[in-house]
Amino acid sequence: MADNVGALPFFYGNITREEAEDYLRQGGMSNGSYLLRQSRNYLGGFALSVAHMHNCYHYTIEREPKDTYAIVGGKSHRGPVDVIDYHSQETDGLVCLLKKPCNRPKNMQPKVGPFEDLKEKLIRDYIRQTWNLSDSELEQAIISQRPQLEKLIATTAHEKMPWFHGKINREDSEPRLQNGSRINGRFLIRQKDASSYALCLVHERQVMHYRIDKDTSGKLSIPDGRKFDTLWQLVEHYSYKPDGLLCVLTQPCSRGDNDIDMPPLLPQGHPGQGASGGFFSRLKHYSVPVPGRKKIRSGSRNNTTDNLNPYETSIPNYQSTKEAMPMDTEVYESPYADPDELRNATVKREHLFLEDGELGSGNFGTVIKGIYKMKKTEKPVAVKILKNSNDNNAALREDMLREASLMQQLDNPYIVRMIGICEVENLMLVMELADLGPLNKFLQKNRYLSVKNLTELVHQVSMGMKYLEENNFVHRDLAARNVLLVTQHYAKISDFGLSKALTEEENYYKSKGHGKWPVKWYAPECMNFLKFSSKSDVWSFGILMWEAFSFGLKPYKGMKGNEVMQMIDSGKRMEPPVNCPMEMYELMKNCWTYKFEERPGFSVVEPRLRDYYYEISQ
Ligand code: AMP
Repeated sequence: MADNVGALPFFYGNITREEAEDYLRQGGMSNGSYLLRQSRNYLGGFALSVAHMHNCYHYTIEREPKDTYAIVGGKSHRGPVDVIDYHSQETDGLVCLLKKPCNRPKNMQPKVGPFEDLKEKLIRDYIRQTWNLSDSELEQAIISQRPQLEKLIATTAHEKMPWFHGKINREDSEPRLQNGSRINGRFLIRQKDASSYALCLVHERQVMHYRIDKDTSGKLSIPDGRKFDTLWQLVEHYSYKPDGLLCVLTQPCSRGDNDIDMPPLLPQGHPGQGASGGFFSRLKHYSVPVPGRKKIRSGSRNNTTDNLNPYETSIPNYQSTKEAMPMDTEVYESPYADPDELRNATVKREHLFLEDGELGSGNFGTVIKGIYKMKKTEKPVAVKILKNSNDNNAALREDMLREASLMQQLDNPYIVRMIGICEVENLMLVMELADLGPLNKFLQKNRYLSVKNLTELVHQVSMGMKYLEENNFVHRDLAARNVLLVTQHYAKISDFGLSKALTEEENYYKSKGHGKWPVKWYAPECMNFLKFSSKSDVWSFGILMWEAFSFGLKPYKGMKGNEVMQMIDSGKRMEPPVNCPMEMYELMKNCWTYKFEERPGFSVVEPRLRDYYYEISQ
């Protein structure tokens, strides 16, 4: 949550306006006393309730598209706390200055909204059904994409609700509502077209139809009514007070099993009674089986939502604007998941089609794009081709085979996977394709990327590195040039040419001597004692973070390797990149802890990045 709002003593969570007024009254209603609560209309928004001259005033604090916050029409601020700080100095349209926080009663925690209950299950179901992921890939997807998934789920959750009947017309909706109890407030929602719905409500045995329109910013409302980000927030609001409807929503008319009546949401004639306590938790007992859902495997994921909705309603707005997630790509799911396709590590030459044009070049030779045709699908691949005309060919060949065999042991969505070896005209290593190329070069050309996007990418690298750490591999060449991008939101670690598998007994690799090393990325113990471990990879990761937040600048610019070593020994470290968040620079400096015993591992670094990423994404 923005600014870690949940920890503020005057933040009450998902309480209603009336509850806020009660708390302000209990707190004495002194002029300028205030509390903060979660918006019940806007995703990620807040509401500020202020007491003045024995009255309560409520202001919505909206989250703006650039992740800033503002009282509607007012100045933008970094977070809701900054909004409050500002209005304790300037009224700027508020009824009075904010003077005194009205803190929660002792032992009261911020109230958790009813949707929170359902969210976790919906996220898991969504990933399973849309991307066909399970086990560790599912867990990794949740960890790396939670903020986006939460938003996606919030804006599509209505499709799972029994009261959502999809694209049926007015005539079809009426018998559904008339069937059964016909109590006041029995309701359903149907879809009219891509940007409008109808709320159909029983009142005095008649069915009323209220239009719900989507405005240009995607907000939903009945004519002249309050605006909401999602349909379930709208339903939650009108089941708590009529607010212009003929009555409150009391009983969802369940699609699919019309003859089974659900218990009323509220006792009839009980407006104003908060529905939040039991509404969603009750709804989850009525989950409707989804008919005819087809399984999707990689290669057929383009239309990711049409299998979600059993009633073929159009795709919610967010879908069309959402940024592609790693799971949307062909290379998220493991190619090893299909034993039919990759039973062994040899790629037949007749199944491999090489394209013109180089993706890059390295020690071994060139890397070019290709297509690997399998039985059922085909995959775009990157093919590393060993150069022929070289005296050191035998040694290079050995190295390349060693790299291939090491990569073959790794299977993680944030690490470039090896598909197989093909040896005909040359030795060729066939790998997953990461089309956008090395991170440093991409950032040099795309300096507009947000801090959130940079954090997302370095967090993904830390997830891949945590996997290596857990499986006793050291990378030894972790740098922005060796992180490849599949999309602007999906990074993979590559280049395992220097990597080593550690033995059970020893958690480090001791090199026999110095080599052609990337000194500026190496920890002191690598240079001084030739010792390489996951902790020395953490040092390199700190340099990689510095490269990312400086948009691909070269670290220690203009300095020679020995000068860098002297600088590190003297306790100095690089300055933060321009506009780098302090939290990220602090983490870099932790990664550059001189003694490896005191340096954090990836098991510590990854959750720190995750927390920061979630915080700035909420
Ligand atoms: P390497 O020899 O592994 O350092 O690769 C040399 C260059 O080839 C890299 O800097 C990338 O530009 C490109 N490259 C290597 N592997 C891939 C891949 N899997 N997908 C796309 N480009 C790649």
